[in-house]
Amino acid sequence: MVESGQPVTMETIVSLCRRRGFVFPSSEIYGGLGSTYDYGHYGVLLKNNIRSLWFRTMVQERDDIVALDSAIILNPSVWEASGHVAGFTDPLVDCRTCKLRFRADQLEQASCGRKPSKRPGETPDCDLTEPRQFNLMFETHVGALQDESSAAYLRPETAQGIFINFKNVAQLARRKPPFGIAQVGKSFRNEITPGNFLFRVREFEQMEMEFFVPPGEAPRWYEYWVDQRLGWHRSLGLRDENLRVREHDASERSHYSSATSDIEYLYPIGWQELEGVANRGEFDLAQHTQHSGTKLEWIDPDGNRYTPHVIEPAVSIERIFVALLCDAYHEEVVGDRERVVLRLHPKVAPVKAAILPLIPRDEGMAGRARALYEELRRHQVVEHDEGGQIGRRYRRQDEIGTPWAFTIDEQTLEDETVTVRDRDSLAQERLPISGVRAWLDDALERDWSSPQSD
Ligand code: ATP
Repeated sequence: MVESGQPVTMETIVSLCRRRGFVFPSSEIYGGLGSTYDYGHYGVLLKNNIRSLWFRTMVQERDDIVALDSAIILNPSVWEASGHVAGFTDPLVDCRTCKLRFRADQLEQASCGRKPSKRPGETPDCDLTEPRQFNLMFETHVGALQDESSAAYLRPETAQGIFINFKNVAQLARRKPPFGIAQVGKSFRNEITPGNFLFRVREFEQMEMEFFVPPGEAPRWYEYWVDQRLGWHRSLGLRDENLRVREHDASERSHYSSATSDIEYLYPIGWQELEGVANRGEFDLAQHTQHSGTKLEWIDPDGNRYTPHVIEPAVSIERIFVALLCDAYHEEVVGDRERVVLRLHPKVAPVKAAILPLIPRDEGMAGRARALYEELRRHQVVEHDEGGQIGRRYRRQDEIGTPWAFTIDEQTLEDETVTVRDRDSLAQERLPISGVRAWLDDALERDWSSPQSD
């Protein structure tokens, strides 16, 4: 039991995800593939919600940002120009004793392959090589020939696909700086030490936005985007006390960045980067201009030319997914029974409501429940569940974070009302069955904050 106020462990979240079909280890029937995961039904629904809420805030509800979906495999020159071929590396050390590999800059957090496991380098038996730089890009080949000329990479970030389309979009989207281009899609990094469930994986879905601004306005827009993005994570229901902004000092920043902040979340493994916001200056557009020969610049109506500066907020769905589950997970005793409940913001919850006939073999209840379900599912993701005791059905919905359950019972047959049960407060009220749809739409628009806040 995680007593109220006690932090949840990553193992607890992994086990809930597996038990309820959010996430499975990938290729399991072949022994898995380290730190690779497949998403089941509720995992897909949760990811869809995260993605569409991001898109809605970053594109749909703004005048100044447009969408893009670029290819995963780009001309390899893109990665030369961006600096990834030369510099997208992590320092790697091998241990000749236990034969494992570690990130040289993360030895403190690593444990070696021997039993009992030690920190690599901790004992005289550890025999570590000198660090060498390991490029994180996955290489592949394009076309039938497998020689050097066909070599290409799976993109390690979505951002470069945006920069190389700057001219296309600037010409066609009828936007002038400040304006942004947003993209969601898979990125791939051959991480040396993936792990901590979905926190660090080799294949993940990034949501990035490049905001192009006149150079003098960059510091102001950087502050603006740090604030906006922090506010957005709060709006998903993440608790204030588990979020903070950490500004990088000069030694931590890329050479081209004049300011970078991490929005950090207090994961079970400690404070870690949830999202990064960087002022990238003119670096990317200037590099691609130089390498491609195509001028990626802005020309004002009065003829002034300049290379816009770029502010980039970048986050993965995976890191939000884990943060949401950790933040929402709660175990408690109700009456004499234990329950696990995911107190997710209703707008991110995979299923918005459950429709439960109290006695499924009663034709009157079953028919009404089915009809209500068929009406609601045209508008929201809802579930119809007629399997097992009502208490067990409630607990199943609590564990996947369904905010409300509508129960069709004896009284429904008399007066056409249903009970609505609230996941967080467990309060119950009665509503006319004909008003359920409007009630649910309304409830989904209401403000919500975690009942687990300090
Ligand atoms: P880290 O320091 O944790 O390796 P990073 O600074 O290299 O991350 P960025 O290149 O800034 O990460 O990537 C932007 C965002 O993409 C991160 O804030 C994070 O949300 C996400 N991300 C990066 N790498 C991974 C990964 N291996 N698995 C899941 N999400 C990732």
